[in-house]
This record gives sequence, structure tokens and C-alpha cells, in this order.
Amino acid sequence: MTMPPGATIGILGGGQLGRMLAMAAAQLGYRVHIYSPEGSGPATEVSAEWTQGRYDDGEALAAFADAVDVVTFEFENVPAEPLRRLAERAPVHPRPAALAVAQDRLAEKEFVARLGGTPAPFRAVDTLAALEQAVAAIGAPAILKTRRFGYDGKGQARIAAAGDCAAAWAAIGGAPAVLEGFVPFEREFSVLAVRGADGAFEAWDVPENRHVDGILAASTVPAGGRIAAQADAAATLARWIADELDYVGVLACEFFATDAGPVFNEMAPRVHNSGHWTIEGAVTSQFENHIRAICGLPLGATTLAAPAIEMRNLIGEQVNDWPTILADPAAHLHLYGKREARPGRKMGHVTWLGL
Ligand code: AMP
Repeated sequence: MTMPPGATIGILGGGQLGRMLAMAAAQLGYRVHIYSPEGSGPATEVSAEWTQGRYDDGEALAAFADAVDVVTFEFENVPAEPLRRLAERAPVHPRPAALAVAQDRLAEKEFVARLGGTPAPFRAVDTLAALEQAVAAIGAPAILKTRRFGYDGKGQARIAAAGDCAAAWAAIGGAPAVLEGFVPFEREFSVLAVRGADGAFEAWDVPENRHVDGILAASTVPAGGRIAAQADAAATLARWIADELDYVGVLACEFFATDAGPVFNEMAPRVHNSGHWTIEGAVTSQFENHIRAICGLPLGATTLAAPAIEMRNLIGEQVNDWPTILADPAAHLHLYGKREARPGRKMGHVTWLGL
């Protein structure tokens, strides 16, 4: 069903992804209503309405669904039961089934492997004894990750040798987890793709991503060498994932480029930090195409708007460099309006288009 401009889009989550989605929605003439546990934030400042509520408050989420025409996410860890209630009252894109897969690292890896993708070697881990067995089977080094609620390297512990198991198990709080073999990757990249309500599928050029301390530091496009050689296979897997989930909206899949081909790391059922460069660097940004997809509009072109693009995140105190960045007339500065520059916090980003 098409939601014509003028309709109200509900977004769960009030951070910078919601802010940039709301700005793209406004450009197309939509109203945005944010739902988030915080009283205010990057997204509420640019949206027509907001509701403060918890993600597990089924009642409040149902009322929110009644107030909007379509619901989407910038935050995917909404519990299943309130999500089900929400989906009974308003169209929800991407579908709750897609969130269920992406919320659980174990389900996600099993799903991707079933579709023919290659995740890192993995084992489900629910006890310290199971962890020790998993390390014996997979070998060290390895990474223990909680099945749920992990992002930006949180909920993870490295295991350099079998003797580290007890410390790693304690570090993640003994939560249900997955042990992953350490992937000897050369580079990291992501596929950003969008699937329309009619099944149309488009992918942007893949960015090469550089992480520092588990947090994205920079994305560059076009990616060369090994990534360029593996991009098509990775995009094909993203298409299989999107088709299988009858996915509507933007989907991000992160990969390691290895000697043996692309290794799937994880997916995000939403717009993604490694796609921020698309605002200036592509004909249609990830934010606009997400809004187009969930509203049943035709997708815009994902082709590059410049031959070379670089996006750098401004993490924590780096945001204080804004005067220097603005002194460069070619820099596209994006600030998220966050008051406090805590370490590790994403405060903004800068994009440069190269010729
Ligand atoms: P994640 O939160 O799972 O995306 O992990 C954050 C970052 O940690 C990744 O972008 C990689 O740089 C690194 N990492 C995660 N899992 C692995 C792995 N199995 N092998 C090697 N590096 C990893």
C-alpha cells in the first residue's frame, strides 16, 4: 500500500539514525513521530511529534501505532511481544520476522549459512563448560559475543587462549552467547541495500570500513582490491537475505574480505553508519530510499554522485574539531546535536566527495 506524502511515519528510536531518517522524510513531505525511552534526543529535535516510552511497554507502543500510518526502526532491539502488538495495529517495515533474525547472533548466523552465506565458524554457548568445549572445537583466538543486545563491539570478549574462558564468560555476564572463530581478514566492508514493497532491489557501491576499538571510524568508496572482487558475491547474499525475509527498507550486511571470499559478520535491519556517505555521495541516500521503500514509493537510484567518497565519524571529543572541518569548504559536516561528548559516543560525521 502506498503512503502518500502527508502521512505520518512512526520511528522507534531517537538517535542520529532517526534524525537523518526524519530529515529525509520531511524532504518528501512526510510527518515523523518518534518513539523512544529518552525524553529528547537527536531525532526528536527534527520531528513533528514524539512519545517517550519504554520498548517493552506494549500498551504505549499500541497507542503509538494508532497515531501513525507506518512504523519503522532506527533501533532494532525491540522485544518480540510488544512488537507483535504493534504490528497488529499498523504496517511495520521491515517486518518483525527480520528483526527477530537480526536480534539474535545465533539465529542470524544459522539463517545466513542456510542461505549459502559463509559466517565465521561458530558455536552456541550457554554455560562455561560449553564455552570450553567450543574453544576446543573452534580453536583460539576466538571472540565470545552475547546473542542479543550487542553493538559497536559491546557484549564481546576476546579469547586468546583456552585459559581465557572463565574471564571471557564473566566479562559478558554469563549471558547466552555465540563463540566465533577469529577471522583473519584483510579488510572490512558492508553491503547497503534497499528492497521496495514490490520486491525491487538495489544496492549501493560497497564501502570499505575501518573500525577503531570496535566502532566504525571511516568508510571509503569505491573500495578497491579484494573488496571490489568480493562485492558482487556479498551483494547477492544480501539479496537472498532480503528476499527470504520479504524485507522492505534498507538492510546493511557487514563482511570481512578474506583469502577465501567474503565472510558474513552481521546484519542490521535498518539504515547503517557505513551508509552515511550516501547523503551526498549517491543519487539517493540510504535514508531517502528507506523512507521511499516503507511508504511504497518507487526506489531512487543508488549510483554514485562522485568518483570517490570518504566519510569519517566524529567520536567523542573529535566533535570539537568542527571549526577546522568547517574551514575546509569541501567538507560536509553533520552534527547530531548531542550535548555531551562522552568517549565512544557518535557525535557527528563528515563526508568529502573527491573528483
Ligand atoms: P561486531 O560488533 O560483531 O560487528 O564486531 C565489531 C568489530 O570487531 C568488527 O567490525 C571487527 O573489526 C571485529 N570482529 C568482530 N568479529 C570478528 C571475528 N569473528 N573475527 C575478527 N574480527 C572480528
